[in-house]
Amino acid sequence: MIKKFFLIVLVVIGLGFYRSQAQNLDEISEIVEGSKILVLNYHQVTDSHTSLAIPLKDFDAQMKFLSDSGCITITPDELYAGLRGEVELPPKPVLITFDDGYTDNYTNAFPILKKYGLRATIFVIPSFTSVYPNYMTWEQLKEMEANGITIESHTLTHPKLEELPDDEIRNELLNSKNLLEEQLGHPIEFLAYPTGTYNLHIAGIAQDLGYKGAFTIKYGVVDKGSNFFALERVPIFHTATTMKDFYERIAWRQSFEEFGWMKR
Ligand SMILES: [Zn+2]
Repeated sequence: MIKKFFLIVLVVIGLGFYRSQAQNLDEISEIVEGSKILVLNYHQVTDSHTSLAIPLKDFDAQMKFLSDSGCITITPDELYAGLRGEVELPPKPVLITFDDGYTDNYTNAFPILKKYGLRATIFVIPSFTSVYPNYMTWEQLKEMEANGITIESHTLTHPKLEELPDDEIRNELLNSKNLLEEQLGHPIEFLAYPTGTYNLHIAGIAQDLGYKGAFTIKYGVVDKGSNFFALERVPIFHTATTMKDFYERIAWRQSFEEFGWMKR
């Protein structure tokens, strides 16, 4: 009896160990497959060792991992059309996003993305573009757009939208859209909320102004149950164990779904 009990305990511990170690290519590949869309959220790619900055070698390893896993990078437009059932998404769709439009996105991230043939989307703050040295120029944005990068809006000045009156929210959303459209010559239809904060009222204004969708920093994967104006993303940070955390963050949602977690 006692022997049998210990055997069961050993099997349970063993299974737990297996699960925690099973972050190999196959398991992760399975996780990003199907009707789930993984949206990664980056800020900076530099060796400056702040939490929002991913060191170059780690970013390179992460992009290599996505590429080796057979992930196909998509645009916000493709994600939108896929969720509406208008197009069929590739088997392992991943949307790589960056917020803020830092210069290192051009100098450091862009060459690595090109190396692996990956596309990405950058949400920029157009009143900072070609103004502050730490932010990209219009010329850089245009060059990136000609090479697989999509530029979308991160508002005009990056305020906390929840603290603004309606007319200022409208200005932030509409003027950024107009300025980007004027400079880049194509419709701007997606938004990332600054600091990720939003509410239904702000989402309603964005929709009224012609946006098709907006991204939050709500942690999760996008699927058919997602709200177009509260799209989930998986933030990638620099930590003491950046790569291990990257795999864990990608694998995160599966355990929630196993325990019956549902969206809304
Ligand atoms: Zn931001």
